[in-house]
Amino acid sequence: MASREFSLIDNYFKGKGHQRKDVVLGIGDDCALLSVPENTLLAVTTDTLVSGVHFLPDMAPRAIGHKAVAVNLSDLAAMGAEPAWLSLALTLPKADDAWLKEFAGAVIEVCEYYGVTLVGGDTTRGPLSITITAQGKVPVGKQLTRGGAKPGDWLYVTGTLGDAGLGLALLEGREQASADHREYLINRHCYPTPRLLAGQALRGIASSAIDLSDGLASDLGHVLKASHCGANLFLDKLPMSQALLGTVSLESAWRYALEAGDDYELLFTVPEAQKGGLDTALAHSGVKHSCIGQLRGGEGISYLNHGQPVVLEAQGYEHSWAS
Ligand code: ADP
Ligand code: MG
Repeated sequence: MASREFSLIDNYFKGKGHQRKDVVLGIGDDCALLSVPENTLLAVTTDTLVSGVHFLPDMAPRAIGHKAVAVNLSDLAAMGAEPAWLSLALTLPKADDAWLKEFAGAVIEVCEYYGVTLVGGDTTRGPLSITITAQGKVPVGKQLTRGGAKPGDWLYVTGTLGDAGLGLALLEGREQASADHREYLINRHCYPTPRLLAGQALRGIASSAIDLSDGLASDLGHVLKASHCGANLFLDKLPMSQALLGTVSLESAWRYALEAGDDYELLFTVPEAQKGGLDTALAHSGVKHSCIGQLRGGEGISYLNHGQPVVLEAQGYEHSWAS
């Protein structure tokens, strides 16, 4: 690697942010060395963001850095894992100091906030692309997966749905909103919040979980397929923000909530017997949760509005900014 790139790593990444004690050796050698406690499963996930495919080419470097880390941590949250380590493969057209300062600042800031250490990566030249691998820990047997839901389990979601999709539509000029709503919705698109505390609090309570990256209809479909169930979904119970409801019609808001991606909320199921413990478990997670349906036998999603069947051709959103 060229000396310019070594100084890039030293300037922006090495020794920056939170330094965990379980990192035996961090950035600077051929590998990082990490200490994994006994009876712990390592949860490992990778996501790539390519300029012009997963984010608008003019997106602020701070938002790109934030989002690249947050989407990976969201996958850890969905498994009930505690985040620990991150590696960053960065492909850059050129070493632009102003861009790197903002980007790296955001990566380090999100890591610091969630107690994660950046332990390595790779730096190459080429069209802008960011690949992050995040690793987290979950006690053996406590992991959440997509496959554990049963008929009768209740379906829940954290936060509000559809904001990020409308935020993207505003950025692309497909919708218009008031200045306040616009800022909120665009922030929800650019700066997603991984629901890490909620994911860990759901250990032993949720029967399945997934994070919402492709849209509720599509991601619920993954849970139903893995769990061999169908679901009744209560449209009147979908949690939606004032900004979403104040900007588009109710029908259109449902569409954003069901089909637009990038919300990074958690979708999870809870057996009747665990329902009582749920509020207590999530009390300190910093995010509200809403019951939006119930699993049943069979397959597919049935939509109900105040108990009445509604026919909606809800396909998973085929977004141009693909997952
Ligand atoms: P090697 O050629 O042995 O793979 P590199 O020269 O690519 O090593 O990287 C030197 C050190 O810097 C390694 O420890 C690597 O993990 C780290 N590193 C390289 N790029 C990044 C990056 N973008 N972010 C964090 N660490 C990085
Ligand atoms: Mg290398």
